[in-house]
Amino acid sequence: MKFSENDKILLNTFINDAKENKINGLSEMDDLWDFTDLETENLIKKIIATDPTDYGFKGNKIAIEPVPEDIVPMKSEAIKKSGEYELDTNTYLPENINLSYESMAYVFKRHNPNRQLLVGSGYRSPAFQVVTLIYILAKIYDFDLAETLKRVALPNYSQHCSVTSTAVDFLNIDGQPSDEDPIEFSKSVEYEWLKKNAAKFNFYESYPPDNNDGIMWEPWHWQFLE
Ligand SMILES: [Zn+2]
Repeated sequence: MKFSENDKILLNTFINDAKENKINGLSEMDDLWDFTDLETENLIKKIIATDPTDYGFKGNKIAIEPVPEDIVPMKSEAIKKSGEYELDTNTYLPENINLSYESMAYVFKRHNPNRQLLVGSGYRSPAFQVVTLIYILAKIYDFDLAETLKRVALPNYSQHCSVTSTAVDFLNIDGQPSDEDPIEFSKSVEYEWLKKNAAKFNFYESYPPDNNDGIMWEPWHWQFLE
């Protein structure tokens, strides 16, 4: 899919409006169309309707589910992240998954008193996933949809939008994974610890090197699976 100069203007405007309208990880799809003109809405719906298998994605499609009722905001210390998102960086998780994360972060800290197992992103509503995708498309990959889809999934393919098997993007106190060199996270104390211990808390690395889903290696991205 190619974007005209006019498309680029519409999408940049959409990102600014999403920020101004305080779109966050709990917003619903209709919240987006409230501040969007019809031309932009149609363009975004066309992007969402992309078949990612045309771009090398081989993962599973998930159903678009409504935002769950038992969602909880995560502790503020766990959400500091500069760089990638100028968007709302509050993080949310379904209650049971958050409890598992908190137990894990507690044990991690006992093993590593000077470190913290932080979370940069947890549950994202399908609407927030759309904003995140458009943001990364426009600001990081200069409207190259193929490159963007290697980094961020469409809402009905994202494990961050799953209500029962939500993915979490971990973050350490050094700010890794960074935008410039995210794979550096694989050399961190946190990653080594996760590989040994995360399964005890039902978290599993979704996208190891050369994964079958056709996604880049994402050592920070772990999915809750029961
Ligand atoms: Zn992720």
